[in-house]
Amino acid sequence: MKIGFIGLGNMGGPMSLNLLAAGYDVAVHDVRREAAAEHERRGAVWAATPAGAGHGRDAVITMLPTPRHVETVLLGPAGLLDALAPGSVWVDMSTSVPEVADRVRARAADRGVEVLDAPVSGMAHGARTGSLQIFVGGDEATYRRVRPVFEVLGDPERIMRVGGHGAGYTVKLMINLLWFSHLVATTEVLTIGTRAGVDLAVLRAALLASPAASNFLDRDVLSVLAHGDYDDSFAMALACKDLGLAVDLAGAVGVPAELSALVEQVYRRARAAYGDLAGEMSPVRLWEDLTGTPLRLPVPVLQE
Ligand code: NAD
Repeated sequence: MKIGFIGLGNMGGPMSLNLLAAGYDVAVHDVRREAAAEHERRGAVWAATPAGAGHGRDAVITMLPTPRHVETVLLGPAGLLDALAPGSVWVDMSTSVPEVADRVRARAADRGVEVLDAPVSGMAHGARTGSLQIFVGGDEATYRRVRPVFEVLGDPERIMRVGGHGAGYTVKLMINLLWFSHLVATTEVLTIGTRAGVDLAVLRAALLASPAASNFLDRDVLSVLAHGDYDDSFAMALACKDLGLAVDLAGAVGVPAELSALVEQVYRRARAAYGDLAGEMSPVRLWEDLTGTPLRLPVPVLQE
């Protein structure tokens, strides 16, 4: 299978390198030519336009920041849509919404071009190690055809078809919405508890042994508690984009989403304070700065 790959950032860069390492013939494109340097060294073909990454390819993957970027790449000048050959598949692995994919399907279906949405979880680390979780929306037979490619990028046990077109986008947005909500709630709880005089390690241990335990408290918050690392491999601009899309989706399906809207505002506030490129865990820093309470544990405590 010959593959095109568009969007060589924190996620798409290592994902496409993994496809090259697995022996696939890969054409790559990005607006930043320099993002492809390592890929070209490892045998990738450089494509100067999205269309160039689509010509003669059996499957083309996009891994782009927002729906607006996906639209530009598919439907803009020298766009991918017109280059997709009959029988080929466009796989959008960006965290996005179905509007652009729906328009592409409407225009390309009579040429036998298939479309899958297949967003991912697992951060840049999962992209590097080929252990992403992948949520696929679309036709079952097309999913089966592309699955060997997904197995290079993700953990085979955690690659799942979650429904028809658009279902992958929805599942991914719901995962991020819940994770960001965990982050804001956990931050408030740890800050209130420690400001009220309880030792942070004791508070965390008590919470982990209680019905209020979570994976976030057990695992994900440790990068902040141990190292003051707010994970800049996932930018605040993208986190705010995901929360905006999730809140919009709630509106579109007529569901009140008061908590989600509040979490989005907290994220926007942290983005305003620390910038677009700040890490996705920056709301923790916001609370630390507002209250003068750094949430840090000595490493020996974490190793107990
Ligand atoms: P990124 O900003 O690091 O990379 C995006 C890449 O797309 C960049 O290299 C950029 O130059 C390129 N690009 C932008 N516009 C383009 C265009 N018009 N044509 C060609 N290339 C273009 O973003 P990322 O962190 O790799 O995230 C990509 C997607 O994956 C986003 O939708 C994000 O929400 C999602 N995601 C990210 C993570 C993470 O931890 N970083 C985890 C899961 C999902």
